[in-house]
Amino acid sequence: MPADRAGDRDGEKRSFAGKRWQAKLRGGGHGARPWDPDIGWPATAGTVRAGPVVQLRQATALTSEEYVRREDWRQARLDRCPVHGVAECGLRRLGTYRRVEPAGMRVARYYCAAAQTTFSLLPDCLAARLPGDLDEVERVVAAVEAAPSVEAAADKLRPDIELPGAIRWVRRRLGPVRAVLLALVTLRPDHLGGCTPTLRDVGARLGAPVLRQIRAQSDKRLGALAAPVGFGPRPRPRTRRPPPREHDPGPDPAPHTG
Ligand SMILES: [Zn+2]
Repeated sequence: MPADRAGDRDGEKRSFAGKRWQAKLRGGGHGARPWDPDIGWPATAGTVRAGPVVQLRQATALTSEEYVRREDWRQARLDRCPVHGVAECGLRRLGTYRRVEPAGMRVARYYCAAAQTTFSLLPDCLAARLPGDLDEVERVVAAVEAAPSVEAAADKLRPDIELPGAIRWVRRRLGPVRAVLLALVTLRPDHLGGCTPTLRDVGARLGAPVLRQIRAQSDKRLGALAAPVGFGPRPRPRTRRPPPREHDPGPDPAPHTG
């Protein structure tokens, strides 16, 4: 903490402290663990797991390959705590976590001890709550739009797995993206009036790559926009119960990430 701010520490602490805060500052719920004004509560694995994880955007034009090659998670910065609006609430860097796909990818994290919240800084190249790239998700949806059917697109996109698994793999990307496109054309008639909720139509207005454009232009509303484009929950898939005697195609082949 800079010297010119050190004298304000007590005043700052009071100004952060709402009722729940004051309990935390007194040690409520944290046993004997000491509060350190410079780092906040120690971010043990237990305290980190206990709190929610909030995804934030790291604006970048890099592709995933470039991002990994440059290890650009080192450049990801969170200057202020999104909960408290300042950095002196105990916000601190909490290393990175590894994504399974793309290989070598890491995502920078911060932790606010007072809010018991972890913030992960997701670069624009990555899909949220799905493995892999946002551009890859876009290629899948574009392939479906260009194909005569979801089944035909799935067969072409994932020849390495059985068709039922390939269809689920496609639908896990297609469904949420269609929901996002539909929400956009419905909620932004000023920009997207007359568009059908397709990548082709929305992309003609917003530019390409379309999903990255949507993420960048929805910067302040990403929590309300469904993953994998925004950082809200993925829409629940419609239940498609197979007839009782239909052959069970088995577990989904693709890995999940958070
Ligand atoms: Zn904070």
